[in-house]
Amino acid sequence: MLNNVPKTSNVMDTYSSFPVKFKYGKGVWLYDENGKKYLDALCGISVTNLGHCHPSVTSAIQKQANELLHTSNLYKISAQENLAKKLCQIGKMDNVFFSNSGSEANETAIKLARLKASKDGIKEPIILSMSGSWHGRTLATLTATGNAKIKEGFGPLPKGFVCVKFNDTALLKSVFDEYGENICAVIIEVIQGESGINLAAPEYLQNLQKLCKENDSLFMVDEVQCGNGRCGNYFAFQKFDLMPDVVTTAKGLANGVPIGACLAKGIAADILTPGTHGSTFGGNPIACSAALASIDFIERNGIIQNASDTGELMIKKFKAKLAAQTDVVDIRGRGLMIGIELNRDCSELFQIALEDGLLINVTNNNIIRLLPPLIISNFEADIVVNKLCKLVLNFLKK
Ligand code: PLP
Repeated sequence: MLNNVPKTSNVMDTYSSFPVKFKYGKGVWLYDENGKKYLDALCGISVTNLGHCHPSVTSAIQKQANELLHTSNLYKISAQENLAKKLCQIGKMDNVFFSNSGSEANETAIKLARLKASKDGIKEPIILSMSGSWHGRTLATLTATGNAKIKEGFGPLPKGFVCVKFNDTALLKSVFDEYGENICAVIIEVIQGESGINLAAPEYLQNLQKLCKENDSLFMVDEVQCGNGRCGNYFAFQKFDLMPDVVTTAKGLANGVPIGACLAKGIAADILTPGTHGSTFGGNPIACSAALASIDFIERNGIIQNASDTGELMIKKFKAKLAAQTDVVDIRGRGLMIGIELNRDCSELFQIALEDGLLINVTNNNIIRLLPPLIISNFEADIVVNKLCKLVLNFLKK
């Protein structure tokens, strides 16, 4: 009991969750305990990319659960081997370490970079990250994250992280001049999610990759939110003709079953060796079977093209419907990762939309973030656009 207010839940209150409880879901739709229907344009924050309870994923999970749940990484796991092969084919990478979340995937990348630095004899290694970035909630990943608020109270934080302004090439050059070979790695989201759908400029990414090569720094791309088909390629970096040394992903990889993956290439692929890293559950049969089924469905059914085409159409319609609104600062995105920026705090739209049967998110207080399922039809996308525009127009009139 806190200040004599009776506790209603034994779950630690880290989320201030809304009291709505969903009972079941199908495709883009969720149903709460009272039978109310919601269109899910958020996907559990970029996770249920094929919609809720996708039959291919469900049946892969059921089949695997009937065969085997867990053996540990002390033995080879067929589904894990197959998933690693598939991801390496897709991303042109060499090998994969599996974990259970995006934070852990990035923690792996950070450890890999630190170990490379140690092998190279670098005494004070530095990992560069970007303002506005989000890499997770473990101590190292929150330190890398370019958001001061999530670090408050958690000091002392690990040393060796420097945050630079996103999309500022001149600054990047001066930071490389200052720290040179001590920069063992750079980590970047090519499209930032948490800070409001911010797109890295293609020239910025090319310059960054070049500086990494010149300074023997690992070029590490965080695809936890923007990857897995959401932005018009399986990995968002593939749009830019880039060759990262390390790629991390999680969220939508297994359509809702917890999984994280750190993919490595070339020199980065030989750094983690037996005993240097591990995870009891990482790459377990259920998660890997669900991921394989998700990727298979994506590949066989033109899902990435659908994400690309539907996203483009949605952005066009949002722009047309909100064109006259000077309070709408920007509408941007790629594929089905869409942000609508207002000139004021609009956090309340989260709850207003929820009450209206639409799941969205507001990030940075003033940016409406949409991450709809990649299987969304034009008809369902129109429902999202029409409902949301109406809510935004009403909100702006207040
Ligand atoms: N990286 C990015 C880009 C993310 O958006 C997130 C979560 O939002 C993470 C890492 C952390 O992932 P997780 O919450 O699965 O640990």
